[in-house]
Amino acid sequence: MFDTLTDSFKNAIGKIRFHDDEKALKKATAELKKSLLKADVHHKVVKDLISSVELETKKNGVGKDNFLKALQDKLTDILTIEGAPKGFTFASKPPTVVLMIGLQGSGKTTTTGKLAYFLKEQKKKKVLVVAADLQRLAAVEQLRQITSQIDVDLVADENAKPTEIVKRGLKKAEDELYDVVLIDTAGRLAIDDELMDELAEVKKVANPDELFYVADAMTGQDAVRTAQTFKDKIGITGVILTKFDGDSKGGVALGLTQQVGVPLRFIGAGEKMPDLEQFIPDRIVSRLMGAGDVESLAEKAAAAIDPKEAKRMTQKIKKGQFNFNDFLDQMEQMKKLGSMKSIMGMIPGMGNMAKQIGDMDLENSDEIKMIKAMVSSMTPKERENPDLLNNTRKRRLAAGSGLSQMQVNRQLKQFKSAAKMAKKMSGKGGMKQMQDMMK
Ligand code: GDP
Repeated sequence: MFDTLTDSFKNAIGKIRFHDDEKALKKATAELKKSLLKADVHHKVVKDLISSVELETKKNGVGKDNFLKALQDKLTDILTIEGAPKGFTFASKPPTVVLMIGLQGSGKTTTTGKLAYFLKEQKKKKVLVVAADLQRLAAVEQLRQITSQIDVDLVADENAKPTEIVKRGLKKAEDELYDVVLIDTAGRLAIDDELMDELAEVKKVANPDELFYVADAMTGQDAVRTAQTFKDKIGITGVILTKFDGDSKGGVALGLTQQVGVPLRFIGAGEKMPDLEQFIPDRIVSRLMGAGDVESLAEKAAAAIDPKEAKRMTQKIKKGQFNFNDFLDQMEQMKKLGSMKSIMGMIPGMGNMAKQIGDMDLENSDEIKMIKAMVSSMTPKERENPDLLNNTRKRRLAAGSGLSQMQVNRQLKQFKSAAKMAKKMSGKGGMKQMQDMMK
């Protein structure tokens, strides 16, 4: 997600690794300056960062550790606004009302869905989405699809005025005790007075706790400028940058907080619902310095994995009863963690691996597609008990799934040996056996 920036820091740190004199420090900061500017970080932010890192390192004694510490502290500092909330915070009295604002095409509607999904899945909240983007009528239909996909309630009415629909949404939220109301407001291709007037009116009616400005990271410094305008004219409490998975250089994320004086709260890195990350400065800095972000990963895993379900699954594996239904269930669970690339980026030392994996889509890999096609041709009994699959049944599976008999045989064999291996590993001394095997 921050490939370019992470590389910048890695290269700079490399310059000071083996020498710890002022010359090495100069080289390291020069390298840092060059690559940060290339990554699209605003020049004033770069200047401030470099001079502070130089000063602090010299003060504490030139060396790799002090350089790293100075860099880490300054990065955290420029990404933090004193007293600003970290991640998502809830109003003391529900519902927490959030206005989603932004220009057309920025990803506002998609992000409204992602945020609803995050609050429902990770924070276990009752979420209501209000479709008040009546400027782009397709946005209402888009929200209908998204909310039904993630099973979140929606208030929408193409024939009502935005303020009217907001009032209806708020009333429903009060009456039916929702925790959060997310309001998708109108966008425009560019900032104009009409849009600002409409947003001001909606804001008055909604009395929001949060106003999130959604901006496309690929637009670079334009994202910063428009955020500033929305801050001045409407007032915003946070920024969400989208499309970080594209060829965004990431620099805008580093400078924005200082430039606009509003914290970056979330980052979108993909078109799917789980592709939204909280922007929590010290965790992001850890990721930028190549040290991963185990905390976020653990939170995601804890939210996605139901402990009771995990226990039941372990028991099944131990008894050798892991079947195709379980396999499909586990695949569904995995999807909640987000893309493989983002998971790898959170594991210390796996940053490079994440880059190699690129946009590998586990769900759509040939292997998984084959298994899914095969499983969908199975009878419920066969899914429960793969041992039932004799040659006649296998032929039927091949015909039904469009696979060759050889492919069916191979997939079944692989599945059986994987289930057997899992059973072995889950028994006493399983880990040791696995380690022995890896030797
Ligand atoms: P809106 O006009 O601001 O409501 O924009 P949409 O939500 O319709 O998004 C515009 C396009 O950007 C859609 O095709 C989205 O799928 C895509 N999009 C939104 N967020 C992201 C993201 O984080 N990554 C990528 N790759 N695409 C995104």
